[in-house]
Amino acid sequence: MNNRALKTIGLYPGSFDPITNGHLDIIQRASRIVDHLIVGVAENKKKAYFFSMNERKELIQDSISNNKEVSNNVNVEAFDGLLMSYAEKIKAKVIIRGLRAISDFDYEFQMTGMNARLNSNIETIFLMASEKHQFISSRFVKEICALNGEIKTFVPKEVEKALKKKLQKK
Ligand code: ADP
Repeated sequence: MNNRALKTIGLYPGSFDPITNGHLDIIQRASRIVDHLIVGVAENKKKAYFFSMNERKELIQDSISNNKEVSNNVNVEAFDGLLMSYAEKIKAKVIIRGLRAISDFDYEFQMTGMNARLNSNIETIFLMASEKHQFISSRFVKEICALNGEIKTFVPKEVEKALKKKLQKK
């Protein structure tokens, strides 16, 4: 068995439009569980994103690099198409998702069930959102910022800057 086969690769997929402190907390905690964590930034043709793929990837990369709590076993990659196909391609053993309130449960439950049918060798594991980050969502952060509200406590400083800049241009 080679070294790579022995390593547990975890995939944390999402839109990250943009990354929030809630996402960052999950990245930090997941990176301690697996040997190698890939943050998979999804490009879904049917979705209209606020930030481009490059911007979303760059904001995650910068937020990770500037955060001492996140270990250096994390990579950020773009993917499109079926999540399970991508997970197989990168040899992920586990898919990691964050779980906030009950509202996340229904969707995550269905998705996990479907994914398990596609490949039952890849487990999905859930990390409960930290108490501090329970209510943070990318959507509300964008809405609050657009209405000139304070978002400092919700997102890394790179994201705050990028959001303000982008909203000024729009
Ligand atoms: P998606 O479009 O796949 O739901 P998101 O970027 O909204 O992408 O979320 C990616 C993952 O991160 C999901 O599992 C989501 O539940 C989780 N997540 C989002 N916000 C938080 C948060 N504040 N705390 C913990 N997990 C979160």
